[in-house]
Amino acid sequence: MIPSAWVDFAGRWGGYALARQYTRNHPRILMYHRFTGDASADPAMADVFEKQVRHLAKHFNAMTLGELLAYFHAGERPPPHTVVMTVDDGHRDFFEFAWPILRRHNVPATLFAATGFIDRELWLWPDQVTWLLGQCGTLPERVQIAGAPLELGDTPWQAIVDRILAVSDDNRLRAPLELGEQLGCDLPSEAPEGYAPVTWDELRVLEASGIEIGGHTHTHPSLARMPEIRLPEEIHRCRERLDSELGMRPRPFCYPNGQPGDVTPAVRAAVKDAGFTGAVMAYADGARHEDVYQLRRHSSSSNPFQFYKASSGVEWLGRRWRRGGLS
Ligand SMILES: [Zn+2]
Repeated sequence: MIPSAWVDFAGRWGGYALARQYTRNHPRILMYHRFTGDASADPAMADVFEKQVRHLAKHFNAMTLGELLAYFHAGERPPPHTVVMTVDDGHRDFFEFAWPILRRHNVPATLFAATGFIDRELWLWPDQVTWLLGQCGTLPERVQIAGAPLELGDTPWQAIVDRILAVSDDNRLRAPLELGEQLGCDLPSEAPEGYAPVTWDELRVLEASGIEIGGHTHTHPSLARMPEIRLPEEIHRCRERLDSELGMRPRPFCYPNGQPGDVTPAVRAAVKDAGFTGAVMAYADGARHEDVYQLRRHSSSSNPFQFYKASSGVEWLGRRWRRGGLS
């Protein structure tokens, strides 16, 4: 039996409940992005999401990331079965689809907003790539990204995103425009329907209802790949926009892309210096929550298998076991 089938089998016969009990003292931080529409490769549709939220409300102690961080900063152990739901980027579908469900079940969440996106100065470049690939007909075998050829292969979106992540910051913002020219497709200057951000007014409504708003940079770069001197433009500016629009309060941060290569000691220090109280990564490797500026997260989605694996602790245990110890 393949490992995922084992997990599924064990889960159906009480394995998820067992894992939940065994890992009750390791707070789980779940990561979401999109909630509906065809804009995402993995949308958590509203009805599937409601089932997940009901499950979290029943079996877990749901809190915001800021509340979890307060335990860590005080040196206290969070309550057993703590779970934190986090949502990246600030798309409007959170406000339209996810928030009414969260409110119905009294489950809080932390939303990380890229402030330049909320300000409508830009739309997110990974979304621009998705939009271009969806709009622009037959794809060529190769394109030019930042002056270098790129074979698109079987997973063009991933190939393009990986390449854009690796180019310099100026090229990152220009790359989708150049890609559009090559595909014979004009990139809209504003996010089209399905890719739009929440408004600041909507964020104020969310915050008043118990949704925590954290920072996610201003223009969503991979921070480790930009010159250190420009980090404040992304991190401090994000903090200032959040504070001036929503008021001063402790806020956590989320690193764009969030892989180990996206965070250097200088990036971590800049996030702390800007006054963010902690920060999350976009992967889980079985580590405990040792550094509040590099908290691991489990990807969650409309896929029930992934949701139960992530929330029950089965995924964390599996990763921990692979690291060489279940202690
Ligand atoms: Zn993001």
